[in-house]
Amino acid sequence: MRDTHVLMIGAGMGGLTAALALQKLGIKVTIYEQAPALGEVGAGLTISPNATRALEYCGLGSFMEVNGDTPTNGALIHYKTGEALTLTQSQGGFKDRFGAEYYQIHRADLHDALVAAVYAHDSDAIVLDHKFVSLKQDDQSVTATFKNGNSVNGDILVGADGARSSVRESIIDKVKVTFTGQAAFRGAAPAKDVEPFMTIANSAVTMGPGHIFTRYYMRHGELVNVVGIARTDAWKREGWSIPATHDEFLAEYQGWNENVTGIIKAIPEHTLFKWALFDRDPIEQWSKGRVTLLGDAAHPMLPFLGMGAAMALEDGVVIARCIEKYDTPVDVFKAYEDARKERTKGVLLDSRIQGEWYQNTDPDDYAGFTRTGEMRVPLMGYDPGTVEI
Ligand SMILES: Cc1cc2nc3c(=O)[nH]c(=O)nc-3n(C[C@H](O)[C@H](O)[C@H](O)COP(=O)(O)OP(=O)(O)OC[C@H]3O[C@@H](n4cnc5c(N)ncnc54)[C@H](O)[C@@H]3O)c2cc1C
Repeated sequence: MRDTHVLMIGAGMGGLTAALALQKLGIKVTIYEQAPALGEVGAGLTISPNATRALEYCGLGSFMEVNGDTPTNGALIHYKTGEALTLTQSQGGFKDRFGAEYYQIHRADLHDALVAAVYAHDSDAIVLDHKFVSLKQDDQSVTATFKNGNSVNGDILVGADGARSSVRESIIDKVKVTFTGQAAFRGAAPAKDVEPFMTIANSAVTMGPGHIFTRYYMRHGELVNVVGIARTDAWKREGWSIPATHDEFLAEYQGWNENVTGIIKAIPEHTLFKWALFDRDPIEQWSKGRVTLLGDAAHPMLPFLGMGAAMALEDGVVIARCIEKYDTPVDVFKAYEDARKERTKGVLLDSRIQGEWYQNTDPDDYAGFTRTGEMRVPLMGYDPGTVEI
């Protein structure tokens, strides 16, 4: 469907990557984003080699080389003693093992780069302040309607509108959502303020009963990204931007060593946010007629493998290749789902397993554990630019 016009709903990492891949293949795409201005939250993102390959396909390989941080060593740390349970020197070597690099990057930096690249192809490609509300379709086309009353018509519509996707709700029944009994905190601290507490490894996860605490560098060592995930039912709101306080964060980490509590206290409070973790089963139907889903809209997953955005980037490249290769929406979506469904389902289920493993009750169980970089589903070697479609 090379001469098609694709309507993309959502300018997150997934929608932007898909748009860029389509533009690269010479296919017209317009993204409709609900926000009045483009941007991302002030947090970090890990880009594993499989996601790096998606960005390389879109022409952002050298951007990542210049702007991403690659950790040189990593550790699992005991919550009480502050001592290493495992220490991996020279954690790098991803390029040798998987053919592409592993990066840690500020979300806003990558988002800005994707936006600039999409605009460089087509300065009208992103339409802001357009919240999708409904769609109609027939044999010829699909029409999306927005909250502001505007409507647009295209050949294919892709819902890249995140975990609580409205596009999904317009093509399939509401998906059941389950509270996991866990909540997360995030923040970003100037490295100079937290470095005294980073005595072991530049990328680390501290393990405690029912809780983990992760920290890693971004912006070439200028900032430290911090995420704590705690078993608690103190609040149950989903969303990324609910303000949190030092006291709330510290209350969950009482009895932890001072390298953890010191970092929490040093995070500027205006960068502290919290959200409850909700889980959804794999979604069996992604497409209907001229409409399909990608990224969190198709496979919202728990954050324990740090693979949600990676899967959205992979989807973006694969859907673009399928649109280029096949002539009808039926054939495009069949090829897309065949290539993507089993993999994303496996990663979603593996993220649950990783969560159980992380939230184990006895940190000593992790002593001597060495990460291999692979789960049941081979993650890092996947190449969305060449995978069979
Ligand atoms: C704690 C945590 C840490 C994470 N860490 C990592 C990590 O290190 N690595 C990784 O790969 N993944 C990570 N993830 C997951 C990752 O952030 C998500 O999977 C990823 O952002 C999904 O991208 P997306 O484009 O599908 O959706 P989103 O990023 O949610 O983007 C959706 C876009 O659609 C827009 N939108 C929504 N509704 C509408 C509407 N009705 N009309 C128009 N526009 C709409 C939104 O405004 C937004 O711009 C993490 C997640 C969490 C919670």
